[in-house]
Amino acid sequence: MKVDVAIIGGGPGGSAMSMFLIQQGISSAIIEKEMFPRYHIGESMTGECGGVIRALGLQEKMDDPDNVVVKHGLTVYSTEGKNSWYVGVQGRDENWNLFPQTTWQVRRDHFDKMMLDEAIARGATLVHGSATKPLFNDDGAVRGVSVKMADGGMLDVASEILVDASGQATFLANAGVTSTKYRGNYDKQIAIFSQVAGAIRDLGPAQGDTLIFYKEKYHWAWFIPLDTEVVSVGIVAPAAYFLGQRESKHDYVAREIHEISPELKRRIPEVKLVEEARAIPNYSYQIKRFTGKGFMCIGDAHRFVDPIFSFGLFLTLKEAQFGSGAIADYMNGANRDADNPFAEYQRLIDSGGDVFEDIIDMFWEQPLLFARYIHQRYPAEMIDILAGRVFERQPNEALIGARNILQRSRSDDTSVAPEGSRFQKMDDDPIRSRRNWDGLSSYAIDNTAIQ
Ligand SMILES: Cc1cc2nc3c(=O)[nH]c(=O)nc-3n(C[C@H](O)[C@H](O)[C@H](O)COP(=O)(O)OP(=O)(O)OC[C@H]3O[C@@H](n4cnc5c(N)ncnc54)[C@H](O)[C@@H]3O)c2cc1C
Repeated sequence: MKVDVAIIGGGPGGSAMSMFLIQQGISSAIIEKEMFPRYHIGESMTGECGGVIRALGLQEKMDDPDNVVVKHGLTVYSTEGKNSWYVGVQGRDENWNLFPQTTWQVRRDHFDKMMLDEAIARGATLVHGSATKPLFNDDGAVRGVSVKMADGGMLDVASEILVDASGQATFLANAGVTSTKYRGNYDKQIAIFSQVAGAIRDLGPAQGDTLIFYKEKYHWAWFIPLDTEVVSVGIVAPAAYFLGQRESKHDYVAREIHEISPELKRRIPEVKLVEEARAIPNYSYQIKRFTGKGFMCIGDAHRFVDPIFSFGLFLTLKEAQFGSGAIADYMNGANRDADNPFAEYQRLIDSGGDVFEDIIDMFWEQPLLFARYIHQRYPAEMIDILAGRVFERQPNEALIGARNILQRSRSDDTSVAPEGSRFQKMDDDPIRSRRNWDGLSSYAIDNTAIQ
């Protein structure tokens, strides 16, 4: 099989990439190993994430009340639940004036299926199978991928460009095509999550908002309404803390909901989990060279920092939008002889990811100052960053302040971990190196080990 672009992964990033390519007359095949709908975490969108959805012409699909909840903002509660700060979803008009906007909370099984179905309806080819190994030209450029089909057969998909949208599976990094994978700042954390029914929400427009409950550094909970009944709840904490509790995932979530914050307990007086409790450990990493001859990574396939402010979906969708433009330029003859035809895309994407990482790091290092930035010093600049406006008019005053506080400078050097960060190089063999992570091996390799 031969296509212009082969995309590994039919998650939101892969489906969006395919739709943006179709808008530019470029054909693609999406290789997806799972049957949709399938469960996935990552349910809250930022304002600009909604913007990319609208750019794909999907506003109408999102307005289906069975599928989505409208989100007007985000509230973060302090340890005792008495103090809080709020950031509303706001857009920018052509004169860069702020205006109130909304975005969405989604059930990922519904949302991801809607995206994949839509990509197929618009012309993408779905290959149901698991990508097994990249294919190379004699000059070392990637020229496609081998797929183990769901029916057991093998298929080679030849492509001009291979896009890795495989999420945390980081297909091309594991295959040694990208540069080394670095562990991130939050790599020793674990998220345990489920869903509850009958939680107490705010009244009016705020009923669909995301709530965050801060306990202490690196220990927090999320509350994301998924429909009129069900709320997604997750606990994020250092993995050592979770292991020390010696509880099942179910019991851990149920107890934490009542202990992490009085305000969360008030909202969920009786804990009834209506979904299996699941875990994702060690999720923070970065790959510095994630593009090259014949390939490009988007979304979680090259970087994931911390889920606290819901940046993941926005990044993978925005990278699909920018990446499709870079691929269209390449197909039209641009950068054909360059060492890396997608170097500019890579620089741009990393610059946006750096903004998020630095703002998240500032939140963990200086939570009180962070609240002051939101309320007093740089409200508009913080609204911009939390909405996802990180690829334009940056660094803004809030980001400059955050970088000063962190004593961190950023450069365009793609070969090294960012100056001032706590990034460390992983062993070349990702599985072996995971085994060394403080006794968390079984969790990292096989989540079913957590009962
Ligand atoms: C605890 C936690 C909470 C989060 N909360 C939020 C949130 O509230 N809001 C938010 O925006 N983000 C959140 N995120 C991040 C969000 O989940 C991801 O950023 C987002 O799903 C990335 O989308 P993607 O399309 O890049 O990858 P994915 O959605 O992971 O899709 C990848 C797809 O690739 C397929 N695949 C993988 N390997 C292969 C292969 N070899 N062959 C074929 N197919 C393959 C998989 O089956 C999958 O369908 C959270 C993340 C975590 C860990």
